[in-house]
Parts: sequence; structure tokens; C-alpha cells
Amino acid sequence: MDIDDLAIRIPAQDRRALARAITLVESGRADHRAEAAKLLAALPQDGEALRIGLSGTPGVGKSTFIESFGMMLTGMGKRVAVLAVDPSSSRSGGSILGDKTRMDQLSRDPNAFIRPSPSQTQLGGVARRTREAVRLCEAAGYDVVLIETVGVGQSETVVAEMSDLFVLLLAPAGGDELQGVKRGIMEMADVILINKADGELKAAATRTCADYAGALRLLRKRPQDPPDYPCAMTVSALEENGLDKAWQSLTDLAKWRRENGFWDRTRAAQARYWFMEDVKQRLLAQLSEAETKARLDALSDAVAAGEQDPSAAAQAFIEGLRR
Ligand code: GDP
Repeated sequence: MDIDDLAIRIPAQDRRALARAITLVESGRADHRAEAAKLLAALPQDGEALRIGLSGTPGVGKSTFIESFGMMLTGMGKRVAVLAVDPSSSRSGGSILGDKTRMDQLSRDPNAFIRPSPSQTQLGGVARRTREAVRLCEAAGYDVVLIETVGVGQSETVVAEMSDLFVLLLAPAGGDELQGVKRGIMEMADVILINKADGELKAAATRTCADYAGALRLLRKRPQDPPDYPCAMTVSALEENGLDKAWQSLTDLAKWRRENGFWDRTRAAQARYWFMEDVKQRLLAQLSEAETKARLDALSDAVAAGEQDPSAAAQAFIEGLRR
């Protein structure tokens, strides 16, 4: 693949070049990894796109929301990219988030770019690839990058680590309980949207929204929160209600964070996080290389046989890696 060519065509907003570059960063092959690293280094550093993480369990209306919200944004003249982190995609044999037909209109909009989740069992791998895809979309001049995930395992945490803002989408609750939303996930949210606030569900949505607004007030305030955030509001993705208000609250928050230094600070901390993650992934990959693995097994046998002390064997192993 011609990396120099891609590095020119991506910032020139060539969609095919972007798609090919994402395929490249998704590849696990060592030569592709090296090319991907070269490409990412050749592209402009982190850009100005607004990266919005969006989480919600299956059925709350994520794809309906992204379709209406995305169409509203492209209608405002913005370019929108949609990526997904779905660690379940290869295990279940079918990605929950990958199906393009879920966003029928948006996928045909020339100002939108939709990419399903890369398939891999390891969340770490999916996460790194998506993080790199975010960078590529940003270099391609997208104004908003939506990163969608389902609440599987740690997927929310990794999406939060690549987002400027984090949105939690919920459905109206039947009773007065808080739908068993884990506290840790609530603590990650900047904006909670109660979807399906229409027709018969409207009253329940309003009640659920009030419950969450109350629960959010009880959480400890984070330094990156202006007054009145995190907040909860109702929307209807289906009837396209409240989407402009949701957008307003997100852009207000982004503006406040930029003006108060939290934007840069968060991105710097995220860059550190991804650097460490990449180091860990590479070390783990090295451990499964045949030669390294043979050494590891031999030392492990020696430890089991009482011939070597575990700590001394570990030290010998690490020193061997450096060579
Ligand atoms: P996802 O699994 O989170 O992507 O959810 P979908 O977008 O596929 O929506 C699941 C179901 O909820 C579908 O039948 C949608 O039509 C419905 N739905 C989504 N948004 C709304 C909404 O705002 N109001 C109502 N009444 N139904 C909705």
C-alpha cells in the first residue's frame, strides 16, 4: 500500500482512501502494523473533531438515535463519522453494532462515514484499532466522530478513553428503579439521554429522566464538570425530538472544557493511556512469539521442577527480552 499517497488523500477527504487506511489499521499483520504506524505519524496530529462516545444496551435506540442525530448534524453542514466498539462481534458470530443497514439514510449521506466494529475477540485489539480509526477520521476532516458501544465488559471504559464527551442512552424505566445502570458507567457520563420520550412512553421517560437527574446530583463532582453537568434530558430519536437540545448541551460542555483547559488535559492523558496500552499489547504479542514462548515454557518448567527460583527465572527472562 502506498502510505505517502494515503497521507495526501486522507486530508483531501478522499473517502476510499480513508476506508483503505482503516482496513490497514485494523490488520493484525506485522508489516501492516508498521505501515499503519508510518501513516499515523505522517498525518496531522490530533485534530479538532468533537469525539462523542455513545453507550447503551441493545434496544435502547442507539442506531435510531445516530441516524436522526447524524442527519441533523449533516443538515447543519457538519461531516459526521460513526465508528463502533463491539467486543462481542466475533464471539457471537455477528456484530451487534456492525450492520450498516441500521442507519439507512445516514449511510447514504455523502457527508457521513459509517464503519462497523472491527471483528476480534480481544477488546484491547478492537479498542486500539478504533482509536486509530478515530485519528484517521479526524485527519479526514470529520467534524464529529461518534463512537458507539454496547455495555459489554469494559467497552464503555475504552470508549471513554477515546472520547471528548460521553453520552449514555437509556430507555424509560417501567418502575422507579434506576435500571441497574452500574454506578461506574453513570460516573462516566457527561450527558444522559432518556430515549423514546414519545407516545405512551413519554410520561415514563420524563419520570426516568427526573430520577437520573436526581442520581447525578448525588455523584461527586468531577473537576471537568461545569455547573449543571453531568445532566439528563429526554429525547425521541424516532420523532426527532430534543436532538437539538442534546447537541446544544454537548457543544456548550465542549466549549467550557476548551476554555477551562480540560480539553487539552484530557486528550494528553488519553494519549498517555493509549501509549501504555500499545506497549502492553506489543509485549503481550511478543510473549506469544514462538521463540519467546519456548524460552518462557523452558523457564516455567525449571521453576516447576524446583531448579530455579520464580523471581530469578523472571529476571532472566526479562533480560533475555532486552537482547
Ligand atoms: P439499538 O439496539 O440500541 O441500536 O436500538 P435500535 O435503534 O435498533 O432501536 C430498537 C427499537 O427501539 C426499534 O424498534 C426502534 O424503532 C425503537 N426506537 C428507537 N428509538 C425510539 C424512539 O425514540 N421512540 C420509540 N418509541 N421507539 C424507538
